[in-house]
Amino acid sequence: MKTVITGATILTADDDDTVLTNGVIEIDGDRIVDVGTDVAATERADRVIDASGMLACPGFINAHTHLCMILGRSLGSDLPLLGWLSEAQVPLMQAFEPDDYDISMRLGAIENIKAGNTTVCEVFFSSHYEQEADQIAARGLDASGIRSVLYRCSNDEAFFDGFVESRHDIVERSQRLIDAWHDSARTGIGIGPLIPWGSSAASFRDAVELSAQQGVGIHLHTAETPEYNDLVRERTGRSNVGMLADVGALGPNVVLNHCVFLDDEDIALIAESASNVIHDPTSNMILASGVAPVPALRAAGVNIGLACDGPSCNNGQDMIEAMKQAALLHKVVTRQPDVLVARDVFHMATRGGAMAVGMADRLGALAPGFLADIVLLDLDAPHLTPAHDPLATLVYSARGSDVHTVLIDGEVILEDRVVQRLDEAEVLARARTRAAAAARRAA
Ligand SMILES: [Zn+2]
Repeated sequence: MKTVITGATILTADDDDTVLTNGVIEIDGDRIVDVGTDVAATERADRVIDASGMLACPGFINAHTHLCMILGRSLGSDLPLLGWLSEAQVPLMQAFEPDDYDISMRLGAIENIKAGNTTVCEVFFSSHYEQEADQIAARGLDASGIRSVLYRCSNDEAFFDGFVESRHDIVERSQRLIDAWHDSARTGIGIGPLIPWGSSAASFRDAVELSAQQGVGIHLHTAETPEYNDLVRERTGRSNVGMLADVGALGPNVVLNHCVFLDDEDIALIAESASNVIHDPTSNMILASGVAPVPALRAAGVNIGLACDGPSCNNGQDMIEAMKQAALLHKVVTRQPDVLVARDVFHMATRGGAMAVGMADRLGALAPGFLADIVLLDLDAPHLTPAHDPLATLVYSARGSDVHTVLIDGEVILEDRVVQRLDEAEVLARARTRAAAAARRAA
């Protein structure tokens, strides 16, 4: 199948940050073969998408979310992290039925696709691992057509009732999930202890070993709040990042999410090990966690991706909003308008995320050889008029709801804001029913 997209203003995010007016994207199967202005490409196409008046860019990579918590959206507002978990979110999750993870993934995938997020990193955790909730979730994500890495996360020592597994079960069940999805084109698997103060050093080492054996990534909540850091220090006598260094859990295949409270030594350890950091500005603000030292991490050469975090601590999945909030947050706390500019946050939302999931050579840019994960935004709207500067328009003026069409692997997965693989009305109705039932059981 050869598809050609014509007429768009294209933000390629390629190595030269090329911007094209009236551009042409030629796609063969799941790959981009050419990006330029060659309209003759339409003669070779099976399908032509006229994107006149639209902005084309790489699909966004929502590099940390918890779609497993989506049925808890709007519960427990205005609480700090541990209170929000213990009083609102965890009791609901304990009341889930295993099948609730299917509807959670479908609802979350629709929300992400409609916001232009073509890849999600689902940091999955559950009190239903015995009933293979992880497999149910992976099947739900895969059915939606979104690209994902489902990180199966849990703890062997401390977290809430039902969420703790033995070391043996963690390794065995992770292995089973990795085996089941080994050959999937779009659904990848990763692993990692969920909470930095909830696992033994041995369990962290298990994750490192399994990651090396199986070639899967590790995803870790890191230094999110001072309380979390205190709990790690009580257990290990080390900072969160220092503890990870001790157990060998730093490196290019490791994703450290949040990293709000770091000292200079932590930043040096992250940089030296080429570990990746994910920034979640909205979640850090909504939970009053703090401001991650993004400028210092960038200065140290650390790769940074961007994320919304879960739909129940954001409370949405709009990566365009996350780009704007990241830029604004660091401008206001440093009082430097150029500390994080539109290009920087766009890079974090595309290529930074691609590198974090180990796909820097094929994801996150519109360039020959890259996977055809493409977003088209309709610029025909009052809040996007005029659009003198396409990048500033995307980052500072646009919203996820401006996304018109989305391709993943060259497949049109959203067309004129209609998801193509799922029945949105059916998914929303089922999600409402299931969320209400879980809330009744939790009460
Ligand atoms: Zn998280």
